[in-house]
Amino acid sequence: MPRGVDANQKTEQRVLNYKKLWSNNLLDWYAVNGRDLPWRRTRDPYAIWLSEVLLQQTRVDQGLPYYLRFLAHFPRVQELAKADIQDVLRLWQGLGYYRRAHHLHLAAKRVVENGGVFPQSPSEWLQLPGVGTYTSAAIASIAFDYPVPVVDGNVIRVLSRAFGFDAPYDTAEGMHWIRQTAQELLDLKRPGDYNQALMDLGATVCTPQKPSCSSCFWQKKCVAHLQNRVGEWPLRSKTTKVVPLTLDYLVLLHRGKVLLFPRQEQGIWAGLYEFLPQPWAGAWDGAAWDRLWGLENPSKDLGHRLVTLKHALSHRSLTLNLNCLRLGRILHLEGGVWVHLHDLDPYPLPQPLLLFLKQTDFNYGRTQQSHADRQSRQRPRS
Ligand code: SF4
Repeated sequence: MPRGVDANQKTEQRVLNYKKLWSNNLLDWYAVNGRDLPWRRTRDPYAIWLSEVLLQQTRVDQGLPYYLRFLAHFPRVQELAKADIQDVLRLWQGLGYYRRAHHLHLAAKRVVENGGVFPQSPSEWLQLPGVGTYTSAAIASIAFDYPVPVVDGNVIRVLSRAFGFDAPYDTAEGMHWIRQTAQELLDLKRPGDYNQALMDLGATVCTPQKPSCSSCFWQKKCVAHLQNRVGEWPLRSKTTKVVPLTLDYLVLLHRGKVLLFPRQEQGIWAGLYEFLPQPWAGAWDGAAWDRLWGLENPSKDLGHRLVTLKHALSHRSLTLNLNCLRLGRILHLEGGVWVHLHDLDPYPLPQPLLLFLKQTDFNYGRTQQSHADRQSRQRPRS
């Protein structure tokens, strides 16, 4: 055998050993340090799917109570499929990215139409609404041992640092390297554990800011650490564009009730409830109000004020102009529903609108006083 071929084989073997070392070390670390989470104590594809959808763009500590609540309400896919979408959204309230809830509900119906049989391979999972490459790989590997790696922000960061990939990951070349490396490093006998171990390492040790390199099993081999360039990785070629969006609302109030409308099925907050969209921008416009609704509501309003809130979403920077108007009598508008401020639960609201209602004192005099009285009556005696 020519010497060059022999040398190449030795190099390849060294690379293979190196990769094996990474996955063995990672699984050893996971056995001791992996997070004990309820969806890791089951192979039920429904529970695993639910956890993966709930945890997209969401921290584990934030998503965990939602997971438990969802399973308590909808223990099987059949219950979720026949649930009213408003009930699903109500349980989702506060988690953001409400499109996920719509997709989850739709996908549950598809599974039930298929006789309650869940997909198994990643390509089958990809057929369901709301299931992308990452989620399909996670569920197929964790629930069915499919040898497919997960690739998300955590994985990109960890692999870029650990193996020192010097090209932006948001390019075709960068993504090709990440996917290929992720596949080569995967432990084929335990793909589900390996993927979860990698997620845990990224979430708890190799974090975006201030990673705990001193407690990392890979510290002595990590390219980023050895070159003292941890903060530079992962490299990217462009930054995410945050688009400003202003929403103007009329918050109509009458005797402790607020007027809510179901939001359209598209765009942000699809299917949730909102206040009356204000047909003009910004500050209060009494003439416009009188022109539009003054006649239907001849009673004099009891005061108004403008509240402006800022709220950041991942790709949006929201400004909410809330013109609060206390009405002297109920105004009936098509599609609107008057809801008591203490009975908002059945009406899923976007988080900033819900917080605004909960944290604002609308000074409803007798109505608030009677609520306070009711609460004090319910308080146990000391
Ligand atoms: S040594 Fe530091 S940068 Fe490298 S993989 Fe570990 S935590 Fe990440």
